[in-house]
Amino acid sequence: MISAALISCALAQAPTLHQARELARDVYEGRSARAWALAAPELKTRSRAEARLAKLIASTRANLGAEVRVITEAMVDDEGGTRYQRVSAVSHWARGMELELAFDPAGRLLSLTTRPASRDAPTVSALHQTRADLRLPFEGGWYVLWGGRRYEDNRHTPVPDMRFAMDVFIVRGPGTFSKRGRQNEDYYAWAQPVLAPADGVVVAVVNDVVDNAPNRPRPGVLYGNTVVIDHGGGEFSLLGHLQQRSVTVKRGDVVVAGQQVARCGNSGMSTEPHLHYQLMDAADWRVAQGLPAQFQGFMADGRYVERGEPMRTQVISHAEVEARRESASAPAQ
Ligand SMILES: [Zn+2]
Repeated sequence: MISAALISCALAQAPTLHQARELARDVYEGRSARAWALAAPELKTRSRAEARLAKLIASTRANLGAEVRVITEAMVDDEGGTRYQRVSAVSHWARGMELELAFDPAGRLLSLTTRPASRDAPTVSALHQTRADLRLPFEGGWYVLWGGRRYEDNRHTPVPDMRFAMDVFIVRGPGTFSKRGRQNEDYYAWAQPVLAPADGVVVAVVNDVVDNAPNRPRPGVLYGNTVVIDHGGGEFSLLGHLQQRSVTVKRGDVVVAGQQVARCGNSGMSTEPHLHYQLMDAADWRVAQGLPAQFQGFMADGRYVERGEPMRTQVISHAEVEARRESASAPAQ
């Protein structure tokens, strides 16, 4: 075991990227010894400083869960000191988190902060044109709570696989539920059929995650029950937060666009019944990069969209492309 004094001696200057990384990893694993060894004198002189630092790190670990992947990291010079910023996907939070470690000029730790990540994940796919003939994966009108390409419109954008994802709910009148909204059954989206957005082969299914009670998201299983469909051409759809045991397809099944594959649920990091949809470039979301998803033939706020990406606050519904074309070209009677 390395003693605290040794670590302090080794760091008489700005920390290297490697050292900052090690410390960040410790925080995500709930270990505080290294952070304490590196703590600046002004931190150490506070009352019960060591116990408070340990508690902070333990609660960070408990609240955010395990680090699933590192999205970006940076060392930033700051008035002689250094800040290390690390954006990660974590298991207990549906969106990205940023961990910031501030060091003084001597490389001692001044502060440790976490906050929801607010910067769009870098992407090389902004110009991607969806190859699959995507249709909306549901019937009827659904409200886009988060959708679009910018963080202002879409809280998914900091996380690479969610970069272009959307969350849809059913809204009637003032809200998403009737009665008091205490049970999933009160929500309009609950148990609604979830459809294959395009032809393909089912490559992953999760079907056994218990649905959450409303507003009690369950840490540890980000998307809850899921179906992932390979459309070919390097495009995969992920449908998430599905109802427990509602998935009616299995790995290897061939599905056609519009076929029901599950029902809308409230599993994983979900506060109420809704559907999470994303297009991505690999079957495993842990390593995939998100792709823009242009759907064909839908209504958005009452206007027909032949091909486009749903945006935040729109109410969207599937419309048959052929039927629309025919009605547009039919001679007036
Ligand atoms: Zn979502």
